[in-house]
This record gives sequence, structure tokens and C-alpha cells, in this order.
Amino acid sequence: MKDCIFCKIANNEIPCTKLYEDEKVIAFKDIHPAAPIHVLVIPKEHITSVNDINESNKLIISHIFITISKIAKDLNIDKEGFRVITNTGERGGQTVDHLHFHLLGGRNLGWPPG
Ligand code: 5GP
Ligand code: ZN
Repeated sequence: MKDCIFCKIANNEIPCTKLYEDEKVIAFKDIHPAAPIHVLVIPKEHITSVNDINESNKLIISHIFITISKIAKDLNIDKEGFRVITNTGERGGQTVDHLHFHLLGGRNLGWPPG
């Protein structure tokens, strides 16, 4: 989608530190890391938020979680633990309107979040 920063990253129009890519998804380091490990996993297809997940795009979600599982193993945080977060909408703190999953790890993560 035009003017979407994550679509631009998916199309290689904006550089990023890529950890994984295939035809459907891309994973890259968050530009403002909130933890020692902070990776964003996104569908290449523009989906605005969790509110827009439906029957027609549901397979991408399992693919994203399989990707997250692989990355957590690659980064050696699978055993110690990590967190996956998707902020949604204004109250959820979503600042980029292209569906993304934060993979956070490398430190103890507090609960509940702010
Ligand atoms: P949200 O606030 O929507 O849950 O998450 C958006 C995330 O995208 C933020 O953690 C922010 O640091 C990250 N971000 C925003 N713009 C860019 C960018 O151009 N490159 C990268 N790598 N991360 C970005
Ligand atoms: Zn987009």
C-alpha cells in the first residue's frame, strides 16, 4: 500500500536489518529496540491490523508463527523464553498500520505490560 512504511520495507524501498525472508513474510530488527532481541515479523501483503485478519488471509498467520518459532531457535532464546506482541489500534499502542508481530527477548519481560 502506498505510503505504508512496512510495505516499503517488504518491497526493499526502505533498508532494514533482515533476519529472514521468503515469498510471504519478512523479519527484521526493530529500529528502536525495546529489548536486547527485538524483531518484527510482517506479512509482505498489506494487512492493516488484527481487525483485518479473516478467512481469506488466515494462512499467513500460522506461517508468521512458524517463522517466529524458527527465529527464536536461531537466536537461541526458545528455551529461556520470549514474548510475541501485536499492538492493535489506538489503545493498543499500534503506531504502524501494517500488521506486525514483535518478538522480544534477551531479558526478563515484566507483566502486566504498561
Ligand atoms: P507498533 O508501535 O505499531 O506496535 O510497532 C511499530 C514498530 O516499528 C516500533 O517498535 C518501531 O520502532 C518500529 N519501526 C518504525 N519504523 C521503522 C523502520 O523504518 N524500520 C524498522 N526497522 N522499524 C521501524
Ligand atoms: Zn503495508
